[in-house]
Amino acid sequence: MKPNIRVRFAPSPTGPLHIGGVRTALYNYLFAKKHQGTFVLRIEDTDQTRYVKNAEQYIVDALEWAKIPFDEGPGKNEKFGPYRQSERKGLYKEYADILINSGWAYYAFDTSEQLDEHRKGHEEAGKTFIYNWHNREKGRLINSLVLNKEEVKSKIDAGEKFVIRFKSPENENLQMEDEIRGQISINTNTLDDKILFKSDGMPTYHLANIVDDHLMEISHVIRGEEWLPSMPLHVLLYRAFNWECPKFAHLPLILKPVGKGKLSKRDGDKLGFPVFPLEYTNEISGEVSRGYKEDGYFADAFINMLAFLGWNPGTEQEIFSINNLVESFDLKRVGKSGAKFSAEKAQWFNQQYMQNKESDELAKAYAQILKEKGITENSAFIEKVVSCVKERATFVSDFWSLSSFFFEAPTTYDAKASKKNWKEETAALMEELILKISSIAVFSSENTEKEIKEWILTKDIGFGKVMQPLRLSLVGALKGPHLFDIIEMVGKEETVQRLKNAIKNL
Ligand code: GLU
Repeated sequence: MKPNIRVRFAPSPTGPLHIGGVRTALYNYLFAKKHQGTFVLRIEDTDQTRYVKNAEQYIVDALEWAKIPFDEGPGKNEKFGPYRQSERKGLYKEYADILINSGWAYYAFDTSEQLDEHRKGHEEAGKTFIYNWHNREKGRLINSLVLNKEEVKSKIDAGEKFVIRFKSPENENLQMEDEIRGQISINTNTLDDKILFKSDGMPTYHLANIVDDHLMEISHVIRGEEWLPSMPLHVLLYRAFNWECPKFAHLPLILKPVGKGKLSKRDGDKLGFPVFPLEYTNEISGEVSRGYKEDGYFADAFINMLAFLGWNPGTEQEIFSINNLVESFDLKRVGKSGAKFSAEKAQWFNQQYMQNKESDELAKAYAQILKEKGITENSAFIEKVVSCVKERATFVSDFWSLSSFFFEAPTTYDAKASKKNWKEETAALMEELILKISSIAVFSSENTEKEIKEWILTKDIGFGKVMQPLRLSLVGALKGPHLFDIIEMVGKEETVQRLKNAIKNL
């Protein structure tokens, strides 16, 4: 029987979700769907000091926009719920106690001032203070490994603050397996005795994360590389509890486009691209950060771009719908080394998706922009405009600069192009062209093209002498789609009017 695949995305609601977080969610989702498994959203909000109120909603909204739906999570299919750790807080102490009783954890009563003293003392001697096998039983640190049972009890009864620390094994070569990185080994002497349970009565990330992954029957932990240093502790915790360890896969970092290091919000600000899926307003400072959605990215293009930041299909194909991604995704094809973010590539994906979008869908979005400019046109017309210009567009917001002349006569004319193409004799020629145009009965693109070109031939002049000034009159510049498509769409009356305007103004 196939093992039941259950994966989770477990963000901490400490601020807006970075695109690295969305990628983690995406890879979890793809892996789950590929194996007919379950994708769980769990909110890890045990650290009350870093809690940001609107962050959870932001996470949910971002996953919804990106179309990475979770199967279980807050408010949805709460089979293993609750899915917010703050609502599970009564549960963790019991597990910390299990480890105390089995000798895998101990109480530590050292105050933060005392620990600071130790740190300072070590620093002065050019050493680093690590709370572990090395010093935990030497008598200078105050914990249940050195105090007797009664002393411990009386301290706790007297309300003295304590934490519960994991007792890392001494000098063991711990062998671990990562689905992406392969075999990893570490000597446990390098580990510190991490706090599992804090003096405020809350579990730390490590304890809550392991307990919940176990209780929620998570089969694969797929998360960012920044959690790799926690893997030994987590593997040891599973051993301490006598629980089956899930498989681990640590995803590569998403790197800055230039220079070294992890992609940060500052890179986005500096180079002008978003690092968040949705726009985000900081609750305290009011600072607004850009989002892919608001910048005009299509959710499917965004997802396709993200999928390639760390994974590749091993072929030349780059355009993958979400279903294609589900089919092709494989942890074996996720790289170990960081994936360089490229804003140009992100735009390229959007431009590619633009070409495959239905014109009616794009027209709807464009109609909204036009409405804001006070322009209402029928949807068939807008659709036609969109199909004329979309091949040159990356975003829907590009449509206006590419097609404003379909809706409004130009008010200015490109100076360089006018100088070059509007000569002494042009006005008279355009007057004649107005007469010709007025006489055309069938005002379709093909027919106007045929008739105007025939007319030019009779005049024995180069096509450019007519075509360039005509384009200038209609568009205001030497750009835009096929000239006769523009003529057909703006209509005879408007074409004539624009020629008259140009004669007057140029
Ligand atoms: N709460 C952790 C985070 O914010 C989860 C790490 C994990 O997936 O284990 O990323």
